[in-house]
Amino acid sequence: ANAITAKIWFDGQLIDADSPRAPLTTHAMHYGSGVFEGIRSYATVDGGAAVFRLPEHLARMRAGADLLGIDFDIAQATSATLAVLRANRHRDAYIRPLTWCGTGSIGLDVAPLSKHLMVATFAIGVHLAGGRVKLGVSSWRRNPATSLPPLKLCGAYVNSILAKHEAMARGFDEALFVDAQGDVVECTGANVFMVRDDRVVAVDHPDALPGITRDSLIALTGAQSRTVSLEELRDADEVFVCGTAAEVTPIDSLDGRTYADSDVGREAARLYRRVVTGADARYRDWLTDV
Ligand code: PMP
Repeated sequence: ANAITAKIWFDGQLIDADSPRAPLTTHAMHYGSGVFEGIRSYATVDGGAAVFRLPEHLARMRAGADLLGIDFDIAQATSATLAVLRANRHRDAYIRPLTWCGTGSIGLDVAPLSKHLMVATFAIGVHLAGGRVKLGVSSWRRNPATSLPPLKLCGAYVNSILAKHEAMARGFDEALFVDAQGDVVECTGANVFMVRDDRVVAVDHPDALPGITRDSLIALTGAQSRTVSLEELRDADEVFVCGTAAEVTPIDSLDGRTYADSDVGREAARLYRRVVTGADARYRDWLTDV
């Protein structure tokens, strides 16, 4: 289970996790006007701890903040992240930065609103069910990139919440978004890979979040990035999904049709674990020491 942190970084200070109270008129609570990240730190093989691909996560957060007119200082967010990890003595942790529109108006123009930044860390758990995951095709469409860009904008995640809720109610662990043309998009919080004829394929779709784990696994496995239809995915030899929290998670079945044991996925998971824990010197520059 996730253990709540003792300290949270909030607008320049480390404070007790249970002490801050956002006003009930907080704009982000009413309209979803915020942007967040999901980042991992790992205990490393040298006895320390490191954050995985921190600059890439904060660059993506900055892209979302820019769209919302929120000034986002990457250097400040970097030092806040390291400070809260140290304060909580967390090594294997899930890191949650959030920047959001606060108070000053109840209208939709964000210019007059106060802007805030927090960073929390959680001793690690996983989002997806442990072991192999049962996937179901969602009846919901993913937010089209032309309406909501695939960034970690708070309000956009209502789309994922609806799909997750439906999937659970139907007895699945996770939802698969498919577009109107029948092409695979992504899951609610993870990108999709498949193996066909011994080739690893990373599902590419304009409405999917450009995942940092996905990018890392493409580098590690030499996967080809391309459009994949639902039909192809159904007939794949194996399927796995990936994300910062999910890491590399093998898929047991899609709408009840079972896949073979995920050998390639398991090997990808092993390579990924070596990289994030600093055991693979070739990728040491993906780690920011805590
Ligand atoms: N898609 C969605 C919708 C997500 O929320 C996430 C998690 N951030 C991912 C994919 C995976 O992205 P990443 O590997 O950067 O965590």
